Amino acid sequence: MPDLQTEIKFLAGVGPQKAEVLNKEAQIFTLEDLLYYFPFRYVDRTKFYKVSELTGDMPNVQLRGVIRNFVSAGEGRKQRLTAQFADDSGTLELIWFQGIKWVKQNIKSGNEYVIFGKPNVYGSKLNIAHPEIEEISTNEAKPSALEAAYNTTEKMKSKFLNSKAILKLQTALFKLPDLLIPETLPAYFLKKHNLMNLTEALFQVHFPEDLQKLKKARFRIKFEELFYLQLNILSQKLNRNEKSKGFVFSKVGDFFNDFYTKNLPFPLTEAQKRVLKEIRRDFGSGKQCNRLLQGDVGSGKTLVALMAMLIAADNGFQSALMAPTEILAQQHFESLSVFLKGLDIRVALLTGSSKTKIRRKLHEELESGQIHILIGTHALIEDVVVFKNLGLAIIDEQHRFGVEQRSKLWRKNTLPPHIVVMTATPIPRTLAMTVYGDLEVSVIDELPPGRKPVKTVHAYDSQRLRVFKFLREQIAFGRQIYIVYPLITESENFDYKDLEDGLESISRVFPPPEFALSVVHGRMKPEEKDKAMQLFVKGITQIMIATTVIEVGVNVPNASVMIIENAERFGLSQMHQLRGRVGRGADQSYCILMTPFKLSKEARLRINTMCATNDGFEISEVDMKMRGPGDMQGTQQSGIPMTLRMANLATDGDLVQLVRDAANEVLKSDPTLELFENQILQKQLKKHFRKPQNWETIS
Ligand code: ADP
Ligand code: MG
Repeated sequence: MPDLQTEIKFLAGVGPQKAEVLNKEAQIFTLEDLLYYFPFRYVDRTKFYKVSELTGDMPNVQLRGVIRNFVSAGEGRKQRLTAQFADDSGTLELIWFQGIKWVKQNIKSGNEYVIFGKPNVYGSKLNIAHPEIEEISTNEAKPSALEAAYNTTEKMKSKFLNSKAILKLQTALFKLPDLLIPETLPAYFLKKHNLMNLTEALFQVHFPEDLQKLKKARFRIKFEELFYLQLNILSQKLNRNEKSKGFVFSKVGDFFNDFYTKNLPFPLTEAQKRVLKEIRRDFGSGKQCNRLLQGDVGSGKTLVALMAMLIAADNGFQSALMAPTEILAQQHFESLSVFLKGLDIRVALLTGSSKTKIRRKLHEELESGQIHILIGTHALIEDVVVFKNLGLAIIDEQHRFGVEQRSKLWRKNTLPPHIVVMTATPIPRTLAMTVYGDLEVSVIDELPPGRKPVKTVHAYDSQRLRVFKFLREQIAFGRQIYIVYPLITESENFDYKDLEDGLESISRVFPPPEFALSVVHGRMKPEEKDKAMQLFVKGITQIMIATTVIEVGVNVPNASVMIIENAERFGLSQMHQLRGRVGRGADQSYCILMTPFKLSKEARLRINTMCATNDGFEISEVDMKMRGPGDMQGTQQSGIPMTLRMANLATDGDLVQLVRDAANEVLKSDPTLELFENQILQKQLKKHFRKPQNWETIS
């Protein structure tokens, strides 16, 4: 009885040579791999087009007509073969560059065939290159109107493994006598969620009887993929919660109360209050807090972080606040110091550029417990940094930190400290549920009152003079301006205006002494950057010319204009993050996206999205749909261990919630998946997530 793990070379029609190509080009090693090599689309083989109906922008079409007038031209690699194809509406040209011998031997001039391929327009003439050709008779015996089409590479095609051939292999596979496809979900589960069984689903995916059945089959397979992802994450989380004790912060004391009554400069937003409550609940639970704090740019995450750290201090624990860059750490240090003025709490800053002497003293004070809050870059997770009693670690703008770096924090105390991860910009819910699925999620979905939404406009480079005029007006009002360039480069291949060019023209338009500029880019030393930044923060310079190093966190409320140069080269979340640098004060702020006139479709969509909305959650959804979940910030480090072959986190969002509920339900009645009826689940989890992931050390 053939088993799914049987090597592919044993399948009829494969053999060692083709097997090697399938291994290398499509990662198909076993019968199972072939079974899960899914079609990327389906073509309707019941529909025949007429030549007169064709246009150059059609996908593959099927035609029926006579092939004649074969003409060979060229020699060797330039060799080609053409023929005329005609139906009763017109003619087009067929072209072959490869496999010419086969065509000449097998296609008879003057006979009628069914052809299938993508029409192209060349000049005013239509042609189809490398059409699939069938004799009329075989075509009529089609079992299914919807025919599966498979991705194949050039190498595969050259070994006669085109889409059609893959379909033939699938046919051979399903014809194997006694082929056993073990079910991968429990029977009760299939029934409960009204899912097709696996054998049927796989068959329908490769040989759909009709659209309805295909839809059901695809649903079943996607459901399963996403379900096991969630089951894995949620059972790990359950497991960890069972085991991981956390420090109990039972009280709110003087540090918190003094701050709240004396120093808090404005009332908290309702969202900030709610999130703080959620964090406090975790702190009191006896379990370790592992929380993702999502909030749009400027929603006031830092303040929430500070208040959580004050609760830690009230309970005799130290806190660490980790930022991705020195500039940001510095700024956190300064703004927290202002918030905490007059209170009896010690905040210290530790970065890579802290001097040895200062650093040594810092280490001492940390070990003795004199310092309550330590702010820094990843310098603070180095092993030499020893806390007396670290109880809370807050990670700002989390995507810059790898999983490994985060896990270092766990070893800093007898029990792992509570962990709050803050995102720089929102990430879509479905992605959060999957990538950070083992964290609790809090959302600040409200901006502090009185903020005027930033006005965003798109301007072409040709409108630059008007933009400069606008900037002069803003500066005359006492406002400050950011001008951001994509990157600093000397590559001649780029005709992009990089920062250096930009700087030259900006200094010509805004000359001293009337105007003063700050420049910050990635190649500067931290101290230089800091100096330039400080001049801008203090209002001594009016224009900050920078690369994306200022992307995250910087807070200069008086800055009211953000110019993004070559905006077509920026990603959506990056632009949104940059725009978040303005609109922080009471003044109307502006974001101007500068681009050349000619834009790709994608770039235009990004720019239009930016102009249409200020909502980071909305933008992150568009971003994920455009780029696919794999390229979103944070996913690379997350290491989703199971690849999704059919489901898509960007487009199957509703399903993610559904399967998460289903997984939660299973775990609720059987937390360790020990019941007999759940044996399959246990087994599949092991199979998909074979490498034991050490999630317990990952925050
Ligand atoms: P982000 O969530 O992007 O990190 P920040 O924490 O930097 O945002 O906050 C942005 C600005 O809003 C800061 O200047 C902060 O002091 C201010 N802020 C925070 N909370 C409030 C509030 N409840 N009311 C008014 N201003 C607030
Ligand atoms: Mg922030």
